[in-house]
Amino acid sequence: MKQYDYLIVGAGLYGAVFANLAAEAGKTVLVIDRRDHIGGNVFTQNVDGIHVHKYGAHIFHTNDREVWEYVKRFAEFNNFINSPVANYNGEIYSLPFNMYTFNKMWGVVTPGQAKEKISEQREAAGVAEPKNLEEQAISLVGTDIYEKLIKGYTQKQWGRACADLPAFIIKRLPVRFTYDNNYFDAAYQGIPKGGYTKMIEKMLCGIEVRLCTDFLSEREKYENIAKKTIYTGPIDEYFRYCLGALKYRSVRFETEKLSIPNFQGNAVVNYTDPETPWTRIIEHKWFEFGKDDDGEDIPFTIISRELSTEWTPGREPYYPVNDAENCALYEKYKKLSQAEYEKKGVVFGGRLGQYRYFDMDQVIKAAIEKAKELLKKD
Ligand code: UDP
Repeated sequence: MKQYDYLIVGAGLYGAVFANLAAEAGKTVLVIDRRDHIGGNVFTQNVDGIHVHKYGAHIFHTNDREVWEYVKRFAEFNNFINSPVANYNGEIYSLPFNMYTFNKMWGVVTPGQAKEKISEQREAAGVAEPKNLEEQAISLVGTDIYEKLIKGYTQKQWGRACADLPAFIIKRLPVRFTYDNNYFDAAYQGIPKGGYTKMIEKMLCGIEVRLCTDFLSEREKYENIAKKTIYTGPIDEYFRYCLGALKYRSVRFETEKLSIPNFQGNAVVNYTDPETPWTRIIEHKWFEFGKDDDGEDIPFTIISRELSTEWTPGREPYYPVNDAENCALYEKYKKLSQAEYEKKGVVFGGRLGQYRYFDMDQVIKAAIEKAKELLKKD
């Protein structure tokens, strides 16, 4: 006899959304997570009144109405708009790449002048059909911006040369010929008031959750506990790396509380030169309090320096390395996962289960779609 309809392995965003929808459909659900907290990498912790994004900056943004309506059931969102700035050896540039960036870089004023500058640089570099991140970047914004704002940052974040990375990574960033520093092209954007953990708590309200519980080290106990399993951990680890290990990038944070009200005047500052060891510094209070505020309400601040490293066992995996070799290996694991579904009813979901550079809204969408598909059948 199975004790539950669904076992959800991982209390991150994918797991929490699926668990919520399954429970709402009247299914019995058990959620387990090997960490000692819910929320996966969107976990926030209240430190002296500031919600610290423990696993890096998470800014919710989406164009999907269904996803937006769904998340709003669990949180009230503030009107935070992400406008990170780039610091290249003390020179400050606006992100994403827009007229403010072009003006600062070249002194150009009109969109026509900016486009002309970019096409001159693209032609001089001889890029016709971009085949990798370096060529894609030069083709989109020219060599000057590539050299100062992309090359160093990307090599630090991914630990690989831009020529060895897929073009799609840089296409995540908008290139705009308007004076607009909004990092995302999204109709809906914000941060849940009270933090992400509170939002996930609401999704999991009334659902049994066991923390510090590792599916992989207690397989015998948990493999047969439910009719179906939603597995959101790393897919290669589930299969005991039988085809080889997939590569992930990991991130380490150096977090400090400073006794000044305002350290950098912005939530996110990217350090785009190759020498500074960190990729960005997050100042957590600015995710919540208005940017026109001088910070005097809270006389201290909390910052996190973000340092990227290759994933090794014992670290948290953050980003799948979606280069050709790892994508090909993932495809082989995906075949195994399809057989695992037929045999044991195990479904793989989320950034780690599907080895995809998902944003939060895409994770939620994928979980909603999967829930619609399975809950209709079961
Ligand atoms: N990127 C860059 N310079 C920046 C910010 C981003 O070159 O100042 C590139 C980099 O290759 C990065 C990609 O754009 O991997 C996507 O950035 P995004 O901010 O979407 O990454 P995330 O927030 O998911 O880490």
